[in-house]
Amino acid sequence: MIADNLQSVRARIVSACAAAGRDPGLVKLLAVSKTFGPQAVRAAHAGGQAEFGENYLQEAVNKMAALTDVPLVWHCIGPIQANKTRLVAEHFDWAHTLDRLKIAQRLSDQRPGHLAPLQVCLQVNIDGGATKAGVPPGEALALAREVAGLPRLVLRGLMTIPEPAPDFPSALVVHQRTRALFEQLQADGLRLDTLSMGMTADLEAAIHAGSTMVRVGTAIFGGRLRAP
Ligand SMILES: *Cc1c(COP(=O)(O)O)cnc(C)c1O
Repeated sequence: MIADNLQSVRARIVSACAAAGRDPGLVKLLAVSKTFGPQAVRAAHAGGQAEFGENYLQEAVNKMAALTDVPLVWHCIGPIQANKTRLVAEHFDWAHTLDRLKIAQRLSDQRPGHLAPLQVCLQVNIDGGATKAGVPPGEALALAREVAGLPRLVLRGLMTIPEPAPDFPSALVVHQRTRALFEQLQADGLRLDTLSMGMTADLEAAIHAGSTMVRVGTAIFGGRLRAP
């Protein structure tokens, strides 16, 4: 079931890349396993999936502890409060949701010496929701320069969670704004290679706009029944 779903999602990625004239090898699939247990992650791993995204930190760390026998790459895609940075620094390979320098500094300070630097993306509030997480686009360059200078982090790119769009064209317009910002940061000299955007509902539009990492939960694991 999960393995079949993974095949379908991979097929969607391949057709979206074909439609956009892109190399499917340059779009990574992140399986978002929040609210699903270790067995679901094992099933996805058996289906060839190695990279997983989690939102809720304590849930994620418990899950990791039940899966130490499998070589997996863990991405934090949920909000990071200042009092939770240590969990992220000690357990994750990636964090996609940096939007403040203070959090970035804590992650860098707390990253254990025996681990590789934490790979990070800045979350951008691309559609301007007033209460939404993410750095405003106009402040992204300044924050990116600071984060890029932190010793135990590697800044890889940008991440967005736009408001759900009613159709492909409206999703595309918003994702293209993120792509433009990404290119602006690259033109400034930042060596970025990751554009983390696109979920179950909008991965085609995100890929069309240049996404290099789609974060897919529902299409792989099914609907989420509970809030953790
Ligand atoms: C839950 C979540 C996803 C996956 O969403 P689906 O619509 O289930 O594919 C992707 N990114 C983030 C940040 C999420 O919280």
